[in-house]
Amino acid sequence: MDSVIVSGKAFDGRSFREDVEVRVERGEIERVGRSNGEKSLSGDYVILPGLIDAHVHFFGVKEDRLLEWNLVPETLATARSVGDAIRLLSAGFTTVRDLGSKCALGLAEAIEEGRLLGPRIVASGYSIAETGGNDDPRDLPLEMGQSISYSFYCDSPWECRKAVRKCVRQGADVIKVYASGAFSSGGKIKPAFTLEELRAIVDEAHRADLKVAMHAYGEEAIGNALDAGADTIEHGLGLSESLAKEMARKGICYVPTLATYEVGLEVRKMNEEVRKARSELIRKHMEEDVKIARDNGVTIIAGTDYVGSSSRRHGENYREIVLLAKFLGLEGALRAASFDAALCLGLRGGSLEVGKWGDLALFKKVEDPSDLRPDNLEYIVIRGRAINGPQLRELARWVQY
Ligand SMILES: [Zn+2]
Repeated sequence: MDSVIVSGKAFDGRSFREDVEVRVERGEIERVGRSNGEKSLSGDYVILPGLIDAHVHFFGVKEDRLLEWNLVPETLATARSVGDAIRLLSAGFTTVRDLGSKCALGLAEAIEEGRLLGPRIVASGYSIAETGGNDDPRDLPLEMGQSISYSFYCDSPWECRKAVRKCVRQGADVIKVYASGAFSSGGKIKPAFTLEELRAIVDEAHRADLKVAMHAYGEEAIGNALDAGADTIEHGLGLSESLAKEMARKGICYVPTLATYEVGLEVRKMNEEVRKARSELIRKHMEEDVKIARDNGVTIIAGTDYVGSSSRRHGENYREIVLLAKFLGLEGALRAASFDAALCLGLRGGSLEVGKWGDLALFKKVEDPSDLRPDNLEYIVIRGRAINGPQLRELARWVQY
């Protein structure tokens, strides 16, 4: 494999530096140092570590509806996701974490084998949920719901341990748990699972050396997730100052997935009261929660919760960086999608350091978060192989939603 030599302004995962040379050999970063102007990829560009989206789903759906997420045939979802994988790469994302879908593990393996073009995928396989919990298509009889779900339902600590073992059996890289549901009547969020069940899940996952990502809406569910020892809090709407302090103290990372709330999705029928409570919770999340997390020293990481539907398209994942930059600034938001994300997820990527993955994203310029639009990508380097950005984009353009 040829070596890749790039030089110019660079974001090293934490901050920008001028005149940096990065050499990638045998799929790894082999040298980072002062530039003497030598480069194997011509042109002017800013060098970034390949971007990371820590929360996606490869649902392969047309419409963003609960029933469709569950009902779409696996072969169709996988086929559609092939296009999404190309789109992600053409947008500068070299690693994504899929937190619940039926096709991500297979997709990840095919990409790893080199039979398919796409980002590295860290996948949970199925997620874990309580019976009747989040994303359970409750309009259907229970057995039917379970048979089409991308979650294993479990109730009781031992069933939950078994659910983790089933995920491990699938080949999971991470365990995803729904520690809360959506809104029930009265606008109150129902926490999912008892603390005992959540602790059993975390213990079983950690025994298998897997991190646990917990979906949590509302103070009670976030509190339970922190008590149970989750590794990342997903969404985390309703964050309070005391919870943020606890999160920081325990080194648990926060994935606020702002990009998904920007879309204004509604997946369930809601009465007026619930709708109001929900929109207030989302307003606070978009305006205050990240500030609370930041001011209390929580590590914040970028995740879109995009699923590959027409409203949440893979390939536009830079939106999360744009939204986070309002609170973290450009460097902070980039760090959330690189260095910090890799640290939280336990990955050998996310920074320009010797020995890290040879994954780079070269953008025309990066002066403002909106410069991370896919049409500014000049080259992507994945596993040490460089691909021309405009050519990849031309390919991605064929993917229609
Ligand atoms: Zn999600």
